[in-house]
Amino acid sequence: MAKIAINLATGSLQKEEIIVGIDLGTTNSLVAIIHPDTRKPIALKEHNSSSLVPSIIHFNAYGNVTVGEQAKALLITEPQNTIFSAKRLMGKSFNDIKDNSSFFSYKVIDDNTSSLVKVQVGNKFYSPVELSSFILKELKQRAEHILKTPVNKAVITVPAYFNDAQRQATRDAGKLAGLDVLRIVNEPTAASLAYGLGLNKAEEKTIAVYDLGGGTFDISILRISNGIFEVLSTNGDTYLGGDDIDNVIVKYWLQQSGVKEEALKLNKEFAQAIRLKAEAAKIYLSTNNLFNDSLNGDVLTINKQVFEILVQPLIAKTIICCTSALKDAGLTTKNIDVVVMVGGSTRVPIIKKSISNFFGKPVNDSVHPDEVVALGAAIQADILAGNNKDVLLLDITPLSLGIETMGGLMDVLIARNSKIPNKASRQYTTHKDGQSGMKIGVYQGERDMVKDNRKLAEFNLTGIPGMPAGLPKVEVSFLINADGILVVKAKELRSGIEQSIEVKAQQNLTDAELETMLLDSITHAKEDIATRALVEANNEGGQLLETTENFVQKNTAHLSQEELIATAAAMQALQLALTLNDKDIIHAKVEALNEISRPYAERIMDTAISLAMKGKAV
Ligand code: AMP
Repeated sequence: MAKIAINLATGSLQKEEIIVGIDLGTTNSLVAIIHPDTRKPIALKEHNSSSLVPSIIHFNAYGNVTVGEQAKALLITEPQNTIFSAKRLMGKSFNDIKDNSSFFSYKVIDDNTSSLVKVQVGNKFYSPVELSSFILKELKQRAEHILKTPVNKAVITVPAYFNDAQRQATRDAGKLAGLDVLRIVNEPTAASLAYGLGLNKAEEKTIAVYDLGGGTFDISILRISNGIFEVLSTNGDTYLGGDDIDNVIVKYWLQQSGVKEEALKLNKEFAQAIRLKAEAAKIYLSTNNLFNDSLNGDVLTINKQVFEILVQPLIAKTIICCTSALKDAGLTTKNIDVVVMVGGSTRVPIIKKSISNFFGKPVNDSVHPDEVVALGAAIQADILAGNNKDVLLLDITPLSLGIETMGGLMDVLIARNSKIPNKASRQYTTHKDGQSGMKIGVYQGERDMVKDNRKLAEFNLTGIPGMPAGLPKVEVSFLINADGILVVKAKELRSGIEQSIEVKAQQNLTDAELETMLLDSITHAKEDIATRALVEANNEGGQLLETTENFVQKNTAHLSQEELIATAAAMQALQLALTLNDKDIIHAKVEALNEISRPYAERIMDTAISLAMKGKAV
């Protein structure tokens, strides 16, 4: 029976438990829902306040946690106890971030460079998952307070380039915050949804999502067809955003007044104050031509023309990223149907204009750029709640997934470009009598030999009861869940023994690597086909030798001397052929051995059958 609840905030009936959409951002986070009455996505906010919750966490001396604006206010005065940008640490080791470690004004532990990072506050240690969970808890509480109903389910967005480890970390953070994370969605996909893209199944579009936030820049090229969002390429700069715009204004003012930049390092409070003024100037100049203010009696002024010249280098950097992303996707600006603007910094008119010029078309900027990702997440949540049955949001696998079979061949279970979630299984068997274990090597790639592909994982199915070769039935199944995490299971069906492994590719492929792998598969297609044919011939020859030997051993008594000699000679010829690396010779020798063994094999089988019919065992 469906649960029926009343939403106290709206007074309306809620048939199902609410699922919220959450944008867990580097600088700001927010939560959105589909309004039960208007059916429109809305960002949740308390009266007279912003929907944005700064992704900042403060710990006081007793370890008590505050999140958001209150924590942000303590950034300058208590840098060691105030954590920002935790998202940059998700799923990362110290090694991954060491080049940027000076960016963090709090203590990031450098103990074992390959394990996941931790942050130290006072005498306590926190993982990025725990830190993110504090932000998610705050958002959950905020939603519960506004909606006056428990909130236990969420869709959370992540950057398109997040790898499995980072997605899993985000999911874990949700769990820790008491949220059942129904889906992890790519931020550009969510932003596109907020513009209604992908909601019409018949629609085919190529979309560029330009996301310039406070501290990061991402450009993603997506294609939607049949309701499937495919990420064609991503590019960006994880240290480029609105903060850099503020910094160029600060520098300009310092130059104007002859103050050295060192002043910022020496006087943190002055640095923070002048940065806040710069941000105010930037925001003011989005709608006005001249900003005039003062700080400690000094005049701070800047006009729009100067501002627009100062931001040019930053815009140019983003355009270089856009060009690379297009190149990686094999597209030009002409192929882009829609440009979507995301992130607070896209409010700067010169940025909008430059991006529109670059793509040669107007940009979509009608949805609040800070809220657009969360609003899209709410739309996805609504689809998952079953309220919009027409849309099925799927991602696809960029490369084929398979296992290693005899002779190092790649046996593909889930082909490249398959929809996610996906499931596939295939049966395998042993090739040695009494074989009790089977190694399952999981690979990703388009080449025919596993050695040319990328190994994702390996495990052993052990404890297969002793059986003749070919009798055990080992079912290997691949399950890719909606977040793109692969679970591989192997089960021997006769005995029921099974083993499984979750494949979390730590070192996810970059677009360049992906491209190389695809190109390689094309360049090497001819030789791959030849190698596969040779390996298959080798496998077939080897197996035939084994079965013939077994058969002859068991049935020597029923074979004539001539048959035994001819068989031994043909086996020897095949053995020799196996060393020659020529599939045609192997095939010829396989055929020759078959020719010799077929007549007696049939004769012996016939005798066995007629004896069996008479009720005697052979
Ligand atoms: P986000 O990370 O998407 O929340 O973006 C935050 C960034 O957007 C900050 O650098 C803000 O200063 C910037 N921002 C917000 N509003 C405006 C505006 N009206 N004009 C220019 N930048 C803005």
